Amino acid sequence: MKQTGEAGFLQFTNVKKTYDQKTLVVKSFNLDVKRGEFVTLLGPSGSGKTTVLMMLAGFENVTSGSITIDGRSITKTAPYKRNIGMVFQNYALFPHMTVAENLAYPLKVRGMAKEQVQKRVGEYLKLIELDQFGNRHPGQLSGGQRQRVALARALIFEPTLVLMDEPLGALDKKLREQMQFEITRLHKQLGFTVIYVTHDQVEALTMSSRIAVFNQGVVQQYASPEQLYERPANAFVASFIGENNLMPAQAPVFQDDGKVQSTLDCGATVMAQNSDCSADDARCIVSVRPEKLVITTQSQHFDNQVEARFIARHYVGDFIRYYFALPGANNVTVKTLNDTRAPEFTEGQSAILGWNASDCFACKYDTTLARGD
Ligand code: ADP
Ligand code: MG
Repeated sequence: MKQTGEAGFLQFTNVKKTYDQKTLVVKSFNLDVKRGEFVTLLGPSGSGKTTVLMMLAGFENVTSGSITIDGRSITKTAPYKRNIGMVFQNYALFPHMTVAENLAYPLKVRGMAKEQVQKRVGEYLKLIELDQFGNRHPGQLSGGQRQRVALARALIFEPTLVLMDEPLGALDKKLREQMQFEITRLHKQLGFTVIYVTHDQVEALTMSSRIAVFNQGVVQQYASPEQLYERPANAFVASFIGENNLMPAQAPVFQDDGKVQSTLDCGATVMAQNSDCSADDARCIVSVRPEKLVITTQSQHFDNQVEARFIARHYVGDFIRYYFALPGANNVTVKTLNDTRAPEFTEGQSAILGWNASDCFACKYDTTLARGD
């Protein structure tokens, strides 16, 4: 069942969903997933991620729009005919059945012959490294082992598409990391397509081939982890993925080379790449990541330099976090590796912060994000 490559395996086109006939919890959802991809829906709680999965699985109706697999609409297909595997955070295994019986169940309901069932169960127990545990009941397993069984049960009938809704939410950090590794290993080995849901951005960046950042029922950006981090499409993505300094600024002025110039509220004029500003915007937000800011002396050259006052220096082991105040504006954070370049300051001392235009973005003004404005 190794499947890779071609475009357009799964497609959502203008999918909308309302539960109460008044508000749209999914506003206009478009997504194109290639066969064998690992796509994550990442967004805050209540943004409509589970609703999208439920419509894909067939447990919720689509209010309007279409979902196709291999070019055929599944919008009216009964859930059990969609051949989709599912793993949820609290996907309860049947407690009265052994691990082997739990794994055999999806095969039996699909009418597989007994010997074949036994063989397949044996293979999948090996695959999840629980071959000695077939006769145990779920109650006799650890949380991580139970989740591996739930994963195997979702995969054992070899679905082409597997949906996972915050499957690791109940596990502690170390187990989560092990399971992330385990899921990506099985995905590579077996080649199924995954639609994964999480609100944890590190998990999304670690596991996915592409991520759809979701907010308020709308996809804000659909791109690879690197693109999301290096080229955020707007201020929401810039603030949701990783850490960013968001500095309120005056109207962006477009330059011939496509860059924009803008005056920060602290008075400094800076150059940035444009994210989603238009020429007639009255305000914008300039975003730059803490690790792209350099505490500098005036002799060093950066596209952008601002004077700031030192507030605090926090030792975090592998790196140092600095907090600086921009006059008349908000505070910014600088992250520096814990090496000889990490300087000391006294409170109130002034410093120059430098960064390049290629590392910073002008985004449309967003009142919910412009802190310190
Ligand atoms: P997420 O998974 O991103 O947290 P959900 O899809 O669960 O978001 O929810 C999106 C919105 O739809 C929320 O406002 C939620 O209250 C609402 N909602 C979810 N399921 C139902 C339902 N079965 N009936 C009514 N409203 C629902
Ligand atoms: Mg959810």
